[in-house]
This record gives sequence, structure tokens and C-alpha cells, in this order.
Amino acid sequence: MNFKITTIPGDGIGPEIVAEARKVLLRVSEVYGHSFSFEEVLMGGCSIDAYGEPLTDETIEKCKASDAVLMGSIGGKVGQSKWYELPPEKRPEAGLLKLRKSLGLFCNLRPAHLYPELKKACPLRESIADKGFDVMMVRELTGGLYFGKRKTEVVDGEEVAIDTLEYHDYEIRRIAKKAFEIAMKRNKKVTSVDKANVLDSSRLWRRIFAEVAADYPEVELENALVDSTAMQLVRNPAQFDVVATENMFGDILSDEMAEIAGSLGMLPSASLREDSFGLYEPSGGSAPDIAGMNIANPLATILSAAMMLRYSFNLTKEADSIENAVAEALAQGYRTGDIMDDSAEGLKKLHTDEMGDKIAELIK
Ligand code: NAD
Repeated sequence: MNFKITTIPGDGIGPEIVAEARKVLLRVSEVYGHSFSFEEVLMGGCSIDAYGEPLTDETIEKCKASDAVLMGSIGGKVGQSKWYELPPEKRPEAGLLKLRKSLGLFCNLRPAHLYPELKKACPLRESIADKGFDVMMVRELTGGLYFGKRKTEVVDGEEVAIDTLEYHDYEIRRIAKKAFEIAMKRNKKVTSVDKANVLDSSRLWRRIFAEVAADYPEVELENALVDSTAMQLVRNPAQFDVVATENMFGDILSDEMAEIAGSLGMLPSASLREDSFGLYEPSGGSAPDIAGMNIANPLATILSAAMMLRYSFNLTKEADSIENAVAEALAQGYRTGDIMDDSAEGLKKLHTDEMGDKIAELIK
């Protein structure tokens, strides 16, 4: 099969880590007989330098014309880079926000997977880390409090600020469908997280999830309140498979899970549209402190490429082959500096490109 991938290497370590993901994808295409074509475009600081703006219309059009987008990261050293002397709408991050909006990406996926070899980095109790976990956080990205009507006014001499939490049924239905489709490719359980004991928007959320669940009889639907979920995620994360929630709850819970799962260099992410199109990127930033040194961890970007194969191209075996190769490299003791444990014996420290080579070599 042929797939068109737009790559956005971006700034800092972005070009280094995207190059390794591309290397692994090319190996997958050789082993499984697919054809991936890549077109590289600029976004972020490098686009400001080249075109005077963080995102051009041409970049948006190229992304739209492809089957998926694979991104590195954008931005410079916070507060120090020349890009931050520009007004906010001209800075690197403005490009990413505009791109997500232009592409209609409403569903954010952040898997939190604790690899047994990295469990020392997990801040949870040893007995919990020993069990391991693999949770897919599904966050609604375009509705809720962050996008509702807002105002600040003075009422009877007091300043009052108002934010509105608004959800339309179609917004809930489309994210629910995504959550169930994702659960079908995993362990067939969805935990829908809300605050239905207090909020009308949550009661609508819960009702629509129950309606959508009827179309997925193989998937178990569990409803949970956000406060108790925050607690359960640290008490027993292994009980969860797919955790689906609205924008603000998801913002908070997915950061909680990222912290529990360990290194930033290991965390992939995806933002999806209603059809199969998606944008895939590591959860970390452009790490200007280590840019150009060939020491960044490329695994989050490589795992983001695996998500692209699974969720945009429906290539399950191929996605598994990348994820298995990452697990195997870790099991064989290969590490980049950020996940190195100098006190452990038998570990081998690799540069960014060597880790890419190792994963490509382990693709079966
Ligand atoms: P950061 O995530 O870039 O770095 C935080 C720390 O984690 C640094 O010590 C860095 O070296 C380390 N790190 C991050 N990714 C790593 C990797 N793959 N391998 C090894 N170590 C890694 O966060 P920051 O320093 O706060 O931000 C730097 C820039 O990135 C800023 O301009 C910020 O706006 C931008 N940013 C971009 C995105 C994005 O492109 N989606 C996301 C977050 C931050």
C-alpha cells in the first residue's frame, strides 16, 4: 500500500528524532512491502527564519494533502530565543495551534505505558510499578472550558470572571466513537470520565457514551468520576485500558499519567480527525539544551510513527513490529542517556542515530 506522509522536523532536536522515525518507517516498508513517501515542510522557529511566520498556508495545504503528519517538535529556549521577542501570534507555538485547528484535530491520544525495564523511573510504589500498565488517555481537544464563552466584568464593585463549559452532542459522539474504535484495537474496555454528579455537560457526556457503546457490544463501558479516577490512576493504573474524557479533565489526567510512565523521551502522542487522518508527535518539546548533540531519545517519535501506522493506516502488524522492537531494544539493555541507569549492569548507551539503527534492525 502507498501512504503519503508529511514530516515536520521543526526545531531543536526535532530534525534528529524525526530522521530516526523515518529510518524505522523505511525499514517497515521494506519488510512489509509498503511504500511510504515523505515530504518535508517547515513549521515553528525554522519557518519564522525562512518565511517570517511560524506556519505558512503552503505547509497547511501540504499537510492536508497527505495521509498523516509526523512531527518532531518546535520552539527555542524559553525566554532566550529571538523568536520570543515576537508578538505571541508570531511565535513558534502559534504555528502548532493554528495547524491543529486548520486540520480539525479534536481527539488527542497519549498512551502511558510503563516498560518493565524502566520501572525505576516510575514514582509509584514498587508493588504497583511491578504490575506495569498500559493506559491510552483519550482527550477531547476542541470543546469544553478552554473554548467556551468567557468574560470578566465588575458586578457590584467586585471583579467576576466567568468561563463556560459547553459541549454539543456531536462533539461528544465523535470522541466517544474514537474511544470505542481504539478500544477495539486494544483490550476492549473504555472508562468514560466525567463529573456527572455535578455538571450538566457531564450528564450529556455520560448519556452519549452509553448510546455509542450500543454500537460496540464487545467493548465494556465503565463510567467514573474525575476525582476518583485521578486517585485510581495512581493506586491501580493496571485496571484501565482506554480512559476517555473532556478537554480540561484530559489535560490534567494525561499529565498525571505522563509523569507516572517515566521519561519524556518515551512518550508518543497523536491528534486525530474524524476520518483516519492524524498528526503524530512526541509529547516532549524541542529540548534546545541537547539539540545537535545526537543524544536525544528518538523512541517517543518512533512510537508516534507506530501510532500513525495503527490509527491512520490501519497497519496493525506493522505497528506491533515497531512497538515490539522498542520493547526488545530495552530488554537487550540499549538506552539513550535520558533513560540510562549508571548503577545497573549490562546497559549499553546509544546515540540518537544508533538507537534508530537498533530499532530498524529489530523490525521483524
Ligand atoms: P522540553 O520537553 O523540550 O525539555 C524538557 C527536558 O526534557 C530537557 O532537559 C530536555 O533535554 C529533556 N528532553 C525532552 N525531550 C527529550 C528527548 N527526546 N530525549 C532526551 N531528553 C529530552 O521542554 P522545554 O525545555 O520546557 O521546552 C523547550 C521548547 O520546546 C520550548 O520552546 C517549548 O515551547 C517547546 N515545546 C514544544 C512542544 C511541541 O512541539 N509540541 C511541546 C512542548 C514544548
